[in-house]
This record gives sequence, C-alpha cells and structure tokens, in this order.
Amino acid sequence: MGRPVSGLEEGIQRMSNQVDAGAPRAVDVLVVGAGIGGLSAVATAARAGAVVAVVEKLPAMGGSAALSAGMFWTAPDHTSLKRRIPLGNHALGTRMVDGYDEALAEIKEIGVRVADEPTANVMTFGRGYSIDIAALLSTCAETVTRAGGYVLVEHSLRRLLTDGGRVRGAEVRRGDGSLLIIEAPAVVLATGGFQGARDQLTQYLGRNADHLILRSNPGSVGDGLRTARAAGAGGTTAMHSFYGHRLPFPMDRFESEDYLPLTQYHSSHSVLVDQDGRRFVDESLGDEIANQALLDRPEARGVLIFDTEVRRTHGAAAPFPGVAAIDRFEAACANGARTATASTLDELADVVAGWGIDSEELHRTLATYAAAASEKSPRAGGVAMPAAPNVPTEAPFHAVEVRPSITFTFGGLPITSSGQVLDADGVPVPGLFAAGVDVGGISNGGYAGGLAPSYITGRWAGAAATAERENR
Ligand SMILES: Cc1cc2nc3c(=O)[nH]c(=O)nc-3n(C[C@H](O)[C@H](O)[C@H](O)COP(=O)(O)OP(=O)(O)OC[C@H]3O[C@@H](n4cnc5c(N)ncnc54)[C@H](O)[C@@H]3O)c2cc1C
Repeated sequence: MGRPVSGLEEGIQRMSNQVDAGAPRAVDVLVVGAGIGGLSAVATAARAGAVVAVVEKLPAMGGSAALSAGMFWTAPDHTSLKRRIPLGNHALGTRMVDGYDEALAEIKEIGVRVADEPTANVMTFGRGYSIDIAALLSTCAETVTRAGGYVLVEHSLRRLLTDGGRVRGAEVRRGDGSLLIIEAPAVVLATGGFQGARDQLTQYLGRNADHLILRSNPGSVGDGLRTARAAGAGGTTAMHSFYGHRLPFPMDRFESEDYLPLTQYHSSHSVLVDQDGRRFVDESLGDEIANQALLDRPEARGVLIFDTEVRRTHGAAAPFPGVAAIDRFEAACANGARTATASTLDELADVVAGWGIDSEELHRTLATYAAAASEKSPRAGGVAMPAAPNVPTEAPFHAVEVRPSITFTFGGLPITSSGQVLDADGVPVPGLFAAGVDVGGISNGGYAGGLAPSYITGRWAGAAATAERENR
C-alpha cells in the first residue's frame, strides 16, 4: 500500500533473480550494496564502459530505497541547506544540491516516471519530485546486466582486500556460506549506514538507543564503516545524529509494509510531551528533529496530543503525492498502540496520566501552551513555541504514545568531492569510494533527503571509480 510506484515487487524480484550467472573473479568496479546509492554508482560505471559487479547481502536488491515513499528531494538552494543543517559538511552538501537537476534529468531520460509537479516544503523546507522508485532501481540493475555486468544478491561483503595501502577488491560471503574473492581496482561502499547495529547505536547515541525502533532494511549494520576503517578510512562528525520518524507504541506488528502507514507524519502539528508531562522541543521544527530530541527524554517515551481537526487534516492527508491518505491515528489504534480519545482535554490528560505520565505537569503543560498561543508568546514553560501553534480545540481530543525510530545514520565515511574515501589525515585511500548513507556528515541534526543525496553521491563515486581502471 501507499507507495507511488507500479510493479515494485515484480521489478525488484525480476532483477534479483538475475543472479550469479557465473560470479566474476575480477572487475573494474565492485560496488557493495544494491540500494539506490550502490545502483546509481554501478549503473554510472557501467554506462562509462567499466566491467562492473554489485553485491547485495539480502535476497532482494533495493535496500531501504525499495521501502521508501519515493520522494526524490533535497534542499532547494545553498542558503536553505545551510540554515537547516548548520553543522553539515557544506562543501559536499552544496555540491550535492547543485547535482540535483542533472540527476533528475538523468532519471527522466532513462525512462523512469517522475511527477509533473514538484512538491514544496518536504520535511518542512525541501523541494522534490515523487518518482517511480522501483522502476529506477530495476532500470539501474538492467543497465548493469545489459552491459554484461553482475547483480549478485545474497553476497555479503566481509572484508576489503588491500595491498600496500591500496584497496584491491573484496572478500564476499555467499548465501551458502562459501567465500568469493572479487578483485577490483576500485570498490564503492554503499551499504546504507549502521542503524541495524545495536552496539554501534549504543556507542554513538547512548543508552536510550535500546528504545529506538528500526525502520530500515535489515542489512545495513555498519559493514561499510567497519571494513573501510580496517582499510585505513577516517571518520566524520554526526555520528550521534540520525533520521527517523515517531512511531506509535507499542505495536502488534511492524513489518516493512507497516513502515509508511504507521509513520505519524502529522506529529509536527501535535503537542508532544515526555513521560514527565513536559514539552521539550518546538514540534514544528520537523519530524526528524523532534524524533532525535525524543531519544534523549526519559525512556525515549513521548505522547502526541491533538484534536479532531489535526486528525482530519494532517493526520489523514497523504504526506507525499502517491502515498496513501489514511487515518494514521486509526492505523495506530488498529496496531495495538496505546491511544486515547476523550471529549475534553482534561479527561484526555487524566487517561494519559494512567500511562505513567505525570498528570499535574501534563495539565499545566497544556494550559501553558494554550496561554502562550493566545498571547503569541515565542516560548511556553521555557520551550520554543511553533510559529503556528496547534492548540487542541475541536473535540474529541486524541493522544497516542510514540517512540523514536531510526531509518538511517548521518555519520559515516569522509569523502572527497568525487566520492573517494579519506583517511584520518584527509588523504584519499587509493581504490576506495563511498556513496549514499555510508557517506558521513552531509546531514547532521537537520536532514537534506535520503534518496536524492544517495543517488547523486552514487553518480560521483561511479564516475571516479571508473577512472581507476588503469590500476587494474
Ligand atoms: C519507510 C521508508 C521511507 C523512506 N522514504 C523516503 C523518501 O520518500 N525520500 C527520501 O529521500 N528518502 C526516503 N527514505 C530513506 C531512503 O530510502 C534512504 O536514505 C536511501 O535508501 C539510502 O540509500 P543507500 O543506497 O545509502 O542505502 P539503501 O538503499 O538502504 O541500500 C543499502 C544496501 O546495502 C546492503 N548491504 C549492507 N551491508 C552489506 C554488505 N556487507 N554486503 C552487501 N550488501 C550490503 C543492504 O542490504 C541494502 O540493500 C525512506 C526510508 C524508509 C525505510
């Protein structure tokens, strides 16, 4: 449900079946991870005439991109990028924004459906187009196989092969447990981040990382970062920072097909309190900002409070063109979440108090919020107010318990502007490239998109990796 695509399952499965028609022993460019970053890189290299292979750990290609809403977006210009992500890597970020139009033109040129009209204010400030993401992934894979390259699923990178400081290929474990060496003068890492690695999450995000709900493909467990570091790569900032949305809690089930319908896209129009009954963030800053702020609260527990108008409008709207418009509060109720509905706010607060939320403080928070809104005060109880507050006024009123989720990590590998991985001294590691979420530091706190930055950095890495052919 809800995806702006046609034939997703068929397209992905069809390409994933084109596997291992005699795995290669040596190629010009080996790409690790068949999500959007890796497929963009490998298709770019194949178009440039390189002999290529892409290895994918999971039984199907596509990574988180195949689960995504297909909104291909980023910051509309340098100024808004810097305003949204003051701590981001501006050199890479601005180059990425500059690469958006060319990337979108390429997607249209290869025959992938792109919405006629752009969508504004994506994640509050971005601009983008809804695309047929399944078609993009399968078209990239077709480019590879048509050029005589390999798309190998159930092939997982174990380690990079090095020789005198130069990366020379990789050791890969196949689905049957056997090991395969693939030699290559250029390896592109596009393994999608470390959100699936509980130990690394705890190391970088702290003990509340245990409460994070994984909303990602399951294969991205930090293999890119781990293997690159072993081969001499340095690190980036933003290791504590990540992208995700608030999700209802608890949930009876949370399979990948539940990711989009259960995402509380309307949360920035709600009042958010923690277990102590207090607000702690300007809810309108954007879901990914409040999601990260929630992780730092006691037990990472929050409650969204909103009225019938918010439920009817933002809570039932399609977040992007092509993503289903459904009643997200109802979806949360149906999936076993802790929810409440009451005809007055006081009654609602009393029910929520029964969930272990401080009752007195919650009543005070709601009263202070309403007073600050009517006085147009910029703060309520010391916490910034939204520019357009959402005072719950239309009964009945609703509450849903939420927890933060993680879709991908922002920290990762440092790269040059052509995708080459750097060591701790800022010197390129010969033969090693990165794309997509494995590239660290473009987003940090704020977020500038997932699909577009990954596709664009994949194009950089694919082109630069092809140029390493003479070192084969
Ligand atoms: C529900 C959902 C909705 C989303 N919606 C949007 C959206 O509308 N717009 C947007 O911009 N972003 C969206 N995103 C985020 C976007 O999907 C990601 O940012 C993007 O897919 C990252 O690209 P990637 O290539 O770095 O990683 P991925 O696409 O996740 O691919 C990484 C791949 O690497 C593989 N891999 C990992 N380790 C190994 C290994 N050792 N060997 C071989 N392969 C390995 C993984 O299995 C995976 O297939 C969404 C994500 C989710 C989960």
